Amino acid sequence: MLLPPPLNPPPRPLMGPGPSDIHPRVLRAMAASTVGHLDPYYLELMTGLQQMLRELFCTKNELTFAVSGTGSAGMEAAVVNLVEPGDPVVVCINGVFGQRMADVAGRAGAKVTIAERPWGDVFSPDDLAPVLKSARPKVVGIVMAETSTGAWQPIEEVSKRVHDAGAMLIVDTVTALGGIPVEVDAWNIDACYSGSQKCLSCPPGLAPITFSRRALDHIRARTTKVQSWYLDASMLASYWGTDRVYHHTAPINMTYALHEAVRIVLEEGLPNVFARHALNHRALKAGLAALGIRYAAREGRQLPMLNAVLAPEGVNEAKVRSDLLSRFGIEIGGGLGVFKGKAWRIGLMGYGSRSSNVLLFLAALEQLLAEQAHSFSPGSSIAAANAIYRK
Ligand SMILES: *Cc1c(COP(=O)(O)O)cnc(C)c1O
Repeated sequence: MLLPPPLNPPPRPLMGPGPSDIHPRVLRAMAASTVGHLDPYYLELMTGLQQMLRELFCTKNELTFAVSGTGSAGMEAAVVNLVEPGDPVVVCINGVFGQRMADVAGRAGAKVTIAERPWGDVFSPDDLAPVLKSARPKVVGIVMAETSTGAWQPIEEVSKRVHDAGAMLIVDTVTALGGIPVEVDAWNIDACYSGSQKCLSCPPGLAPITFSRRALDHIRARTTKVQSWYLDASMLASYWGTDRVYHHTAPINMTYALHEAVRIVLEEGLPNVFARHALNHRALKAGLAALGIRYAAREGRQLPMLNAVLAPEGVNEAKVRSDLLSRFGIEIGGGLGVFKGKAWRIGLMGYGSRSSNVLLFLAALEQLLAEQAHSFSPGSSIAAANAIYRK
């Protein structure tokens, strides 16, 4: 056969909904020699990673590890371990990822009741009161950072209401973790999962996860086997815990990558990481406002790391995205679901959350909008962003 050309991926500022820009130190870590998955060096590395993940999730939960798989595997792991067939489960839907969780719960045999809010909005504890009362759920699932809309769901009050109703809480922090505060213990979350490729600046392939004591007790008291062999937390706990019982061959070099990625976040310090995400978001938002571009999520509930904005009237949004990629190498995301064909999703996640990305993006966007005869004052977005940085 004629061999395909050798690997030569183009360099890209990844400014979409994920994967995000990979930190160069993470790429280097991935290229280190592979050891065995039961090698003493690897076991020590796993322990260190677990300790760092507890810091990152702000938890003392013993059962904290990384699922071998992407964020969706983390979602499945949280759901299938807490849910037994026939269990009443409430899933909060205000975007694509809530929908996905409802699908996952239904497949796990749960009796799913949906709580809904408009896309771009979030849930208040009062929004949940009726469904908690009528469905009497055992588990409630909610997404903290809804990547399809850019809405920031506050968790603490919702968690209180869910626990007052006697249910356990699953929180999706795939996009949240490493970009905004996630306080697993303080907010009393029972299962919380994330993904390596959003604000952790690591390639996709691992899903950090943590289970509370209460969740673990529940898993131990199950009367049915966890539907998934691969994601059974009790079996995984024997590998990640002191027994070190072989379960599956861990993705060794991905673990190197996540280890380095989380180290980088903790080195910078969580408060500094959150402040950096907030600053670059404000600069981007000021720049977009100068171009007359509005956000899709409700004011006051907008995520710093995922800026979902409405493409201006009369602008071909798909052409802007494809021109950004082909002419500037910049990847951003399009809209999903109700925002399909209407929105751009601009990620400023992890290592990608930096002023050079914000300014490059705004400059490129100005050029493309000018070509499509969108009217604005040239240079105004850059000036507005720089004004934020100067403050
Ligand atoms: C990206 C994402 C997921 C899915 O993660 P994958 O790594 O694509 O499997 C789940 N939930 C949210 C909120 C996400 O942003």
